[in-house]
Amino acid sequence: MSIEIKGINKYFDQTRVLQDISLDIHSGEMLALLGPSGSGKTTLLRIIAGLEYQNSGLLSFNGKDVSRLHARDRQVGFVFQHYALFRHMTVFDNVAFGLTVLPRRERPTAAAIKQKVDGLLEMVQLSHLANRFPSQLSGGQRQRVALARALAVDPQILLLDEPFGALDAQVRKELRTWLRQLHEELKFTSVFVTHDQEEAMEIADRVVVMSQGHVEQVGTPEEVMREPESRFVLEFLGEVN
Ligand code: ADP
Repeated sequence: MSIEIKGINKYFDQTRVLQDISLDIHSGEMLALLGPSGSGKTTLLRIIAGLEYQNSGLLSFNGKDVSRLHARDRQVGFVFQHYALFRHMTVFDNVAFGLTVLPRRERPTAAAIKQKVDGLLEMVQLSHLANRFPSQLSGGQRQRVALARALAVDPQILLLDEPFGALDAQVRKELRTWLRQLHEELKFTSVFVTHDQEEAMEIADRVVVMSQGHVEQVGTPEEVMREPESRFVLEFLGEVN
C-alpha cells in the first residue's frame, strides 16, 4: 500500500513541529525516517498511524484519504516503544491480542487464532517460548514478540519507532537483518524511525533525512551518502553515532 503525504503541518501548542512535509512512500518499500532527536520523526510516524492528527495537509493510503480514520481502521501495524508488551499476558496471548479484539463478525475462531499465532511465533522463531511472560524474555526476544503482535492482523503498512533502540549492538544487527528478510517475504510497506544512520543505510530502500520539522533530503542510502543536498545532511551523516 502506498502512502501519500502532502503539505502536512503539525502544531503542539504554538510550536510547529512538522513544517509542510510532503512525501510519497511507495508500496512495498522500506523507508527510514532519519534525523536527530526532536526533528519530528516520531510525530510524523504517529500521524501515519492515526495516533496523532495533522493540523493541515493531506494523508492518503493508495490514494484514499485516511485523515479522519482512527488508527484501528487504517490497517497499520506498529511497534512503538510506548506500546510495550502486556506484562500480564503470555507471549502467545500478546501476539493473539489484535485478533481477539476485532469486532465479532471479523474475529477468527479460537482455532484459527491459534493457527495464526503458532505460525507467527514460528516465523519469529519463538514457538518454544509461547507460554512465557515478557519479563522472562531477553530484549531481542521481546522485540520479536512485538513484531509478531503487529503482524497478526495482516497489516499493509508496518510502522516502527526506534524498534531496536534499547538493544545491544550485536542483537540490533541481527534483528535488522531479520526485519529486512521479513519485509521481503511479506512485502508490506514499512516506515521506521531511527537516529542511527548505520541502521537506516543498511536496511532501508530510501532514507528521509529530517531536521527541525522539515525534510532535508529523500533518496536511496547511496544517493544521500554520495550527494548530500545540504550542509545539515553532510554534517549529520558525517557524525559517527
Ligand atoms: P523525534 O522523533 O525526531 O525525536 P518528535 O516527533 O518526538 O521528534 O518531537 C518533535 C518535537 O515535538 C519536539 O520538539 C518535541 O518536544 C515535540 N513534541 C512531541 N510530542 C509532543 C507532545 N505530545 N506535546 C508537545 N510537544 C511534543
